[in-house]
Amino acid sequence: MLSVSNLEVVYEDVILVLRGVSLEVPDGQIVGLLGANGAGKTTLLRALSGLLDIHHGKVTRGRITLDGDRIDHLDPQQIVARGISQVLEGRRVFAEFTVEENLRVGAHTKPNDRAKNLERVFELFPRLLERRTQTAGYLSGGEQQMLAMGRALMSNPRYLLLDEPSLGLAPQLVGSIRDLITAINEQGTTVLLVEQNASMALSISDHGYVLETGRVVMDKPAAALLDDDDIKEFYLGLG
Ligand code: ATP
Repeated sequence: MLSVSNLEVVYEDVILVLRGVSLEVPDGQIVGLLGANGAGKTTLLRALSGLLDIHHGKVTRGRITLDGDRIDHLDPQQIVARGISQVLEGRRVFAEFTVEENLRVGAHTKPNDRAKNLERVFELFPRLLERRTQTAGYLSGGEQQMLAMGRALMSNPRYLLLDEPSLGLAPQLVGSIRDLITAINEQGTTVLLVEQNASMALSISDHGYVLETGRVVMDKPAAALLDDDDIKEFYLGLG
């Protein structure tokens, strides 16, 4: 299990962004992490992936553990090697590379399994197979999101961390991405899904957390969150 306990994160030594966050991602589940802009969702994913340093952030209290071992001092490569792979916000693909070249980059930690993982990714995303020799920069937004997810899956991770995969996509594509996340999870990958699209996230999550200004303010089964009056009003637009 991936576990975050009482985590405090500060940027530039002074800007306190996470104020004691605790969260658990049990194996086999999809866990949704909701929250408004600036709540600290991306910061939490950076902490989990070892990417705080390059953003001038650091963990000042608390811990992140994987099966009980602390991982909050590991670098990004070591974290990927432990089976935690992140799709960054904004689906950063290498625009000049082809689809297949982008995917091959994602396999660097598991070069021996490259062919097998490439086959799995092309099965999950037939659209990427059709476009395997095309330059990634010319793909649509939805296809680039699929490519970014496919690249993260090339290390066959135990945990996939997704940062707003539905951002900027047409409603129909949001549905495709949602179905793909479910399929990836059913194949055995545990998912931590950061989303502003609460209805999408909660419709497929087992459990959900709501982050507000660096604190967890709700921590419930996704079905209970979908039924919560505050969530309906503030996150689902049903108030
Ligand atoms: P969004 O959905 O807008 O990405 P978020 O919940 O992911 O929001 P974060 O990106 O984690 O939130 O940002 C949380 C707070 O930390 C914001 O106030 C932001 O301005 C601040 N912040 C993020 N990165 C840095 C940084 N490198 N240096 C200083 N402050 C930062």
